[in-house]
Amino acid sequence: MSATRVLVLNSGSSSVKYQLLDMGDGSRLAAGLVERIGEETSRLKHSPLASGGEARESDGPVADHEAALKAVAQELSRDGLGLDSPELAAIGHRVVHGGKRFTRPTVVDDAVLAEIERLIPVAPLHNPANLTGIRTAQALRPDLPQVAVFDTAFHTTMPESAARYAIDVKTADEHRIRRYGFHGTSHAYVSRETARLLGRAPEDVNVIVLHLGNGASASAVEKGRCVDTSMGLTPLEGLVMGTRSGDVDPAVIFHLTRVGEMSTDEIDTLLNKKSGLLGLCGDNDMREIRRRIDEGGEDAAPAQLAFDIYIHRLKKYIGAYYAVLGRVDAVVFTAGVGENAAPVREAAIAGLESLGLAVDGTLNAVRSGEPRLISPEGARVAVAVVPTDEELEIANQTYALVRDGNAGAA
Ligand code: AMP
Repeated sequence: MSATRVLVLNSGSSSVKYQLLDMGDGSRLAAGLVERIGEETSRLKHSPLASGGEARESDGPVADHEAALKAVAQELSRDGLGLDSPELAAIGHRVVHGGKRFTRPTVVDDAVLAEIERLIPVAPLHNPANLTGIRTAQALRPDLPQVAVFDTAFHTTMPESAARYAIDVKTADEHRIRRYGFHGTSHAYVSRETARLLGRAPEDVNVIVLHLGNGASASAVEKGRCVDTSMGLTPLEGLVMGTRSGDVDPAVIFHLTRVGEMSTDEIDTLLNKKSGLLGLCGDNDMREIRRRIDEGGEDAAPAQLAFDIYIHRLKKYIGAYYAVLGRVDAVVFTAGVGENAAPVREAAIAGLESLGLAVDGTLNAVRSGEPRLISPEGARVAVAVVPTDEELEIANQTYALVRDGNAGAA
C-alpha cells in the first residue's frame, strides 16, 4: 500500500486536536489544535513539523466543527499535506465511549455511527462531538476509511467480577450501567511500551499503569489484557483528579440533594468540575500545588492536604491492583503528572518496600522524554516512567486496520 499517512482527530465538545503521521517512517508531519469552537475567540494553532517551520496561530470565530476541520485542511494544504493527498491512507478518530460492543478499532459505516449515537446517554459530553468529527471528515473525504478508536476498547477484557457494580442486575442492564473504563488507548500503549522497556513480551508481564493527567486512572494489566481499571460508567470514578472527585460514597449525592437542596446538574458540576485537587485547595495544576508546598507559609497547608489525599488514593489503588494481579512486574507512571512530577512518584511508592517497590531518588529526579526505570537496580518489581502517546497509538491501530485488516496495534 503506497498511502502511508494517517490523520488523527480528537474532537472534543469545543475543540479539535489533530496530528498527521507518516506510518512509513513513523514521522510526525503536522500537529495542531482548534480551540473555543463556536465562540468569537476561537483559535487555531498549527505546527508544520515536517518542514520544521514556525507554528502558525490564527484567531477569529470558527462557527462549528465543520468550519474547524475545513480550517485544519487549509493549514495542511499550505504545507503541501492537504486532505486531498493520495498519500493519506485513513483518518483515525478518538471516540470516547464504545460501550461493550466495540472491543477493537473499527472502520466506520452507518451501523457503527448509529451505535456510537446509541451510546450518547452514557457519554453525553463526548460522543456527540466525536460523531460530529467523524461526519465532517466523511464529508471532506467520502472515499477514505474513517476508523473509530475507542477509549473503552482496551478495558472490554475486564471480567464481569470487575466490570459489574453490585446493584440489581436487571436495573443495571436496562440502563447499561457497568464499569467501562477510559484512557484505554493510553493504558494499552503504555503497558506495551513498559514490556518493551523490560525487554519482555506484553504476554509475559503484569503491569499496574497509573495514567495521571488532569484526568487520572489506574489499570491492572495481566499479560497484555486489562483486568481492572479505576474509571467506571463515566470518567468520574477512581483516583483524585484535577477537578473530579474520583470515588465518593454514592450517598453523598442523596445527602446533597436532600440536605443541601442541590439539583442533579449542580451535583454533576460539583463532582466533575469543582472537586478533586481544585476543590480541595483551589488549584488543579500539580505544578502549582508543589510550588505552594515548597514555598511554605499559609498557602501551603491546603495544598499539602490536597497532595496527601491525592497520594493516599493512589496508594490504595496500587495496593488493590497488586492484590488483583497477584504478581506484579512493573508499576508505571504516565501522562502530565506521572511523567513530570517526581514528588508524586516518590510519595506514591514510599513505604511499599515489602511489596518489592522502591524508587531511586537520583533516577527519579532525571527529567527526560524517554521511557525509563526509576527503581533501584535489582529491584523485585520495576517502577518506570513511560510517556504516553495516544495519537501514535490511534495512528498505529488505524493504519494496521486499513493496511491488512489487523486491528491489533502495530
Ligand atoms: P495531561 O492531562 O496528561 O495533559 O496532564 C496535564 C497535567 O499535568 C497538568 O494539569 C499538570 O497538573 C500536570 N503537569 C504538567 N507538567 C507538570 C510538571 N512539570 N510537574 C507537575 N505536574 C505537571
